[in-house]
Amino acid sequence: GGTSAGSSIKQMKLEKESELRIEVANDTPLRLRLLNGTAEIFGTELPPQMWLSFPPRLKFAVFTWYGATIEMDGSTETDYTADETPMVSYVNVHAILDARRNRAKASSTDSEPVQGPRVIVVGPTDSGKSTLSKMLLSWAAKQGWKPTFVDLDIGQGAITIPGCIAATPIELPIDPVEGISLEMPLVYFYGHTTPSQNVELYKVLVKELAEILQRQFTGNAESRASGMVINTMGWIEGVGYELLLHAIDTFNANVVLVLGQEKLFSMLKDVLKSKPNVDVVKLQRSGGVVSRSAKVRQKSRSYRIREYFYGIVNDLSPHSNIANFSDLFIYRIGGGPQAPRSALPIGADPIANPLRVTPVNIDRDLLHVVLAVSYAQEPDQIVSSNVAGFIYITDIDLQRKKITYLSPTAGELPSKYLIMGTLTWLET
Ligand code: ATP
Repeated sequence: GGTSAGSSIKQMKLEKESELRIEVANDTPLRLRLLNGTAEIFGTELPPQMWLSFPPRLKFAVFTWYGATIEMDGSTETDYTADETPMVSYVNVHAILDARRNRAKASSTDSEPVQGPRVIVVGPTDSGKSTLSKMLLSWAAKQGWKPTFVDLDIGQGAITIPGCIAATPIELPIDPVEGISLEMPLVYFYGHTTPSQNVELYKVLVKELAEILQRQFTGNAESRASGMVINTMGWIEGVGYELLLHAIDTFNANVVLVLGQEKLFSMLKDVLKSKPNVDVVKLQRSGGVVSRSAKVRQKSRSYRIREYFYGIVNDLSPHSNIANFSDLFIYRIGGGPQAPRSALPIGADPIANPLRVTPVNIDRDLLHVVLAVSYAQEPDQIVSSNVAGFIYITDIDLQRKKITYLSPTAGELPSKYLIMGTLTWLET
């Protein structure tokens, strides 16, 4: 591997059940194609012969079940072949889920239809949760199912920008470059990238999302049989652990996949043994998962927001709009960061009301803030409403009382109610 001046085409032969792990260079994209054999990227098959372009910094693996030859054009940060992967155990899980989907489908006209699998993927940061979730979804979609992807990870959103929890049906294997197609995701705005900012709000939003999905499943046998795959946060200690249990419970998960941590596995196995219909399965972390420092995570959050407005390959052009202060109604949910109970006098509440919705005065503090556009019709519906999208504040003119913001589309916002959290972005 390594970066070499000038681009050169390189051929790599992959033996069966091995993968080519690649980190694209920081500043140039990489072209790659499948020359012969069959191969997939995180569950999505590569088309034969066709050159594909991968954007800078992308980290991925090309895996082959039966052997393949890959051609690469361009430089990489690293690329190497690995023949030890946990892929066989992952695809075995898929086979079991598939059988359950078939059983659910067969019972869909019964008076009490069986639910499709509700899989939740848990584990520490950098254990490959998002990647395993995507593989399970893509393998299911390839077989014609329409599983629902639920992303509860507010730190590194796979469906939309950070600070949100979201769900979307997956109808086709996930495109390894473009990611999840954003037709109509169901998105709730939490507004922060760590759950400790407002644990109560996080739980309420998880519950809202679960209830809406439950309602959708009731009327849709295909989605119900296909089930869901839920990706979670890497925070598994203390409150993080409590939130995992809350998610398992709220979504009625019946398969818990624990990636790469013995302790978490045994804790969950123990606490869930009273629920015989919940399977807790331990899976190995792939050696290919790239660890990310806090700084790298911060950066990737920032790229995610950039992608929302400009597209992954700069194919979108957001609009700059100007509004009067009086046109926009900005609200905040709850107070500032929560003090731990132990830091307060006995009997005191850590926070008066974490779900209280309060209006925000427009001032210079709003500069560079990312706001969500709520579907709420009234301020008191803000907590329980999903959001249409996001805007980014680029200028505040206090004299003329004008606010300039970036929006993915031109024209009026779908609602005048905006939600502010602590999510900011510095356009680069
Ligand atoms: P977090 O909880 O911190 O969000 P995670 O557990 O969800 O992390 P992933 O996002 O799945 O971890 O993986 C981290 C990075 O490693 C991603 O960029 C992913 O594309 C990459 N990665 C995962 N598996 C492989 C692999 N086998 N080869 C190369 N790169 C990989």
